[in-house]
Amino acid sequence: MSCGPTCHCQSESGDYRELFAAHGLRCTRQRQVVYAALAGTREHPTAEAIYDAVRQDSGSAGISLATVYNTLETLSNCGLCRKLATPGGPARFDALTDEHAHVVAADGSMMDLPEDLSDRVMAGVRDPELIAEIEKRLGVTVGRISIHLAAE
Ligand SMILES: [Zn+2]
Repeated sequence: MSCGPTCHCQSESGDYRELFAAHGLRCTRQRQVVYAALAGTREHPTAEAIYDAVRQDSGSAGISLATVYNTLETLSNCGLCRKLATPGGPARFDALTDEHAHVVAADGSMMDLPEDLSDRVMAGVRDPELIAEIEKRLGVTVGRISIHLAAE
């Protein structure tokens, strides 16, 4: 379902039509519900946690786990969220798309480092000379920088 007179692509937390359009994405009800659930938490949920959160939503009645997975993939491919791989666990998702460092707890839960601390951690690896040397020595192109500190 695309945005039209019958689409209510507007939530209490904001109008996502422009945001979606800016990322080249049609604003469907399911995308909006999934994005709203993700944007409303700092918990870095898994797809299953998002599914549990949105299945009760009247606007997403009948949504399947597969649809939630696919929607999260679409949103992350369009840059509306980040997909975070966790070692040995399911991927988690983050509506905060700026580069920032995370702490991963032993149970797999993930939290953002406070901005000032994250900036200090990221500053060390954002050094262009360092990146250039890594690219030269390893023959790779560094894209996004992702830092997870593991809590014991
Ligand atoms: Zn985060």
